[in-house]
Amino acid sequence: MADIRGILIDVDGVLRIDTDPIPGTIEALADLRRRQFPFRLLTNTTVRTRHSLGALLRRIGFDVNDEEIITAGAATAAYLRRRFPGQPCYLITTGDVADDFEGVPLTNGMDAKVVVIGGAEHNFTYAALNHAFRLLLNGATLVAMHRGKYWITAQGPTLDAGAFIRGLEYVTGKRARLVGKPAAPFFRAGFRSLGLPPEEVAIVSDDLLQDIMPAMRLGLTGILVRTGIFTEADLEAAQPDSVIDSFAEIGDVL
Ligand SMILES: [Mg+2]
Repeated sequence: MADIRGILIDVDGVLRIDTDPIPGTIEALADLRRRQFPFRLLTNTTVRTRHSLGALLRRIGFDVNDEEIITAGAATAAYLRRRFPGQPCYLITTGDVADDFEGVPLTNGMDAKVVVIGGAEHNFTYAALNHAFRLLLNGATLVAMHRGKYWITAQGPTLDAGAFIRGLEYVTGKRARLVGKPAAPFFRAGFRSLGLPPEEVAIVSDDLLQDIMPAMRLGLTGILVRTGIFTEADLEAAQPDSVIDSFAEIGDVL
């Protein structure tokens, strides 16, 4: 850990559960700030823009700037602008994330050339999925902001976008292009934003298989927390570089 000069921090299940900070994490992040230890929040959150996630985190007590937040939603918009410039997109998502899609033509018509799926919660209706299905049959490309299985809210485990993406893949025979974690370019965006090589960056997450292991394969150091979606059984599947009870203890390992 002595070589670590920057850190990528997962948000859901690491810093917060919904709007509740995990105990001790506000102070731990403030401590990194005080030590001038560079960090980025690297999150598959797709229901909020970078700015509105930043505003929420500040409201509940975290000292974080919008420029330190990298979301799968904003990364997907950048990907579409780069790879599908001017192409009409059909977006299934929720919240204000569409505000990050400036410059991407959005349509609910049959002219969409790209179907884009994020964590849409109640907007995963039969009508929306059937429209996406028909677009894909018409030749549209399927883009997934992430393939998350579930996350933890105050009500408990909550179904994420992965099941719906897998369903559309199953019925169309197409494979979604993935933008968020665990896609390598998303991790690269994280350590490049820090201006550091992967060998000098650690990632902290509650998701061993989707966050920690893929990042370790790119050369980052993986630190697993025992909060959020973590279960002890995860450690039978793979071994991170380090395990801590919660992000509150990050100062002990860095
Ligand atoms: Mg998480």
